This record gives sequence, C-alpha cells and structure tokens, in this order.
Amino acid sequence: MALLRVAVPNKGRLLEPTERLLRDAGLVFERGSRALTVPVRNVPIELMFVRTEDVVELVADGVAGAGITGLDLVGEADAALGVVAELGFGQCRLTAAVANSSPAEKLEDLIGLRVATAHPGLTARLLAERGIDVTIVPLRGSVEVAPRLDVADAIVDLVSSGSTMLVNGLRPIATLLESQAVLVAGSPEDDGVARLATMLKAVVAGRGRRYLMMNAPGDSVEEISGLIPGLRAPSVIPLAHNGDVAIHSVVLADDLWHVLPRLEEAGATGILVLPVEQVIA
Ligand code: AMP
Repeated sequence: MALLRVAVPNKGRLLEPTERLLRDAGLVFERGSRALTVPVRNVPIELMFVRTEDVVELVADGVAGAGITGLDLVGEADAALGVVAELGFGQCRLTAAVANSSPAEKLEDLIGLRVATAHPGLTARLLAERGIDVTIVPLRGSVEVAPRLDVADAIVDLVSSGSTMLVNGLRPIATLLESQAVLVAGSPEDDGVARLATMLKAVVAGRGRRYLMMNAPGDSVEEISGLIPGLRAPSVIPLAHNGDVAIHSVVLADDLWHVLPRLEEAGATGILVLPVEQVIA
C-alpha cells in the first residue's frame, strides 16, 4: 500500500489526545525530536506534525493525504475536504454571546450589529445561512473583551465549559456549531485513508463501550438480555454446575449507571466491567 502522509497537530489542545488516539489504534511511532515528519514503524503512514490550523490547507493542497484537526477549522477554511471520521475529543461549541446588559436574546436580535470573532469565515457563513446580516469584526484574540471595549455588540467564540464567557460578563444566546476533532481527507475512498478511518473509528467506538461479564440464574436470562442486548445478542454460557449461566455483553459506557443496579435486581452476581479497546460492529 502507498505511504499515507497524515498531518496532525504539533502543539495545542488537540496534540495530546491525537497522539493517544493514534497509539491506541496501534500505530507505533516515536516523538520527541523536533522532526516535522515521523515514520510510523508498523504501517505505511508518515505523521507530519504541523500547526492545528494548517492541517486543512495541507490536506486540501495534497501535501498530506489525511489530517486530524477541529471541525470548526474545516468550516473556517471552507475547503473541499471529506470529513471521514469524528474522533470524540476536542469537543467545543461555536457560541454567540452578548454582554449581560444587552437586550439581545436570540440570534435575530443581532441583525445589523457588530460581531467580533476570531473565526470570521465560519461565523459569516453560519450567520448568513440563518439569514442574520451582521458586520463581522475579525479579531485574533481576546474576543471576549470586545463588547466591554465597545469594539463590537456581540461575539462569536469557541467555548467548552463556557466559564470564560461568564467571567467576562457575557451571556450566550445561541450555538452556531458543535465541533470536535475529525479525520479529514482529500480522497476519502483511498485505501489507506479508509483503513486509517476504520481503525480510528474502532477506537472511538471502544472508548464509549464496556464489556460486561456476570453470573446469573438460568431463569433470569430473558430479563437480563433485555437490559443488555449487546451488539447483536448477549453470549450465554452454561456454568459447570448448579444451573447458573455466565452472561457476556457490550454496553454503552453512558448506560452503565442505569443498567448495573437493574442487573443486580434481576439476579446477576459477580458483575465485571471491562474496558473495550476497539469495536468494529
Ligand atoms: P489549539 O488552538 O491548537 O489549542 O486548538 C484549537 C482547536 O481546539 C479548535 O480549533 C477547536 O477545534 C478545539 N477546541 C476545543 N475546545 C476549545 C475551546 N474551549 N476553545 C478553543 N478551541 C477549542
């Protein structure tokens, strides 16, 4: 298979989770030197460490065959790129906010006003799509102080917890985009890209799931199967004596909180919860 060059962040908040994802997907590589490109030892992939905001352009230009970056940056560049996989980290929202003292309560109230943002392309497009005509004030940073300095009437910025906006006396009024890290490619159907996407998606799917093992009385199998249907159906394995069975299944990690007490109520004992490294359903 031809060598696939993958552009990945060399610093910033997406660097560490990107490296972890690639290693969890089984890619073996060394990092530590200041090298721009790093060969992956066990698969025909070369990692190219670049600024997060340069990934889209390098993939669009064909310098790299694929890349990992934020969905917001893909939207900002508006390049003809395929988003091949959502990677489940780097979650944030592109949010419109106004000063607490502002009368604005919804996006429509921003029509005709000045909106400061460090994401001018994306903001202009998302607002235009909603028929909101504003004057964009492009800023590089410190966007949240723009209303206080009377540089703008509102801001549009990326937030994860939203605490920076609160601290700066701003009130969110709308979410324009939900973003997360994504795998992008110029030719998503390329063999190497498809294989990388499959491996990364398998890790992302595994992270959201747990493998459950338990013992249960034979007559509770139906009730327990209803609680944990698994990818297809739970495995039911007879125990060596006394009519009990072992039941194995895969559950969504988010469901554990509700499911575990109900399994106990249904008679399950010795419940083990194990991590799942990868899932290809
Ligand atoms: P960096 O500037 O290299 O730290 O990474 C910026 C990217 O991280 C953005 O383009 C988003 O995709 C993502 N991100 C996740 N949470 C946030 C946040 N709270 N603020 C800004 N960017 C975020």
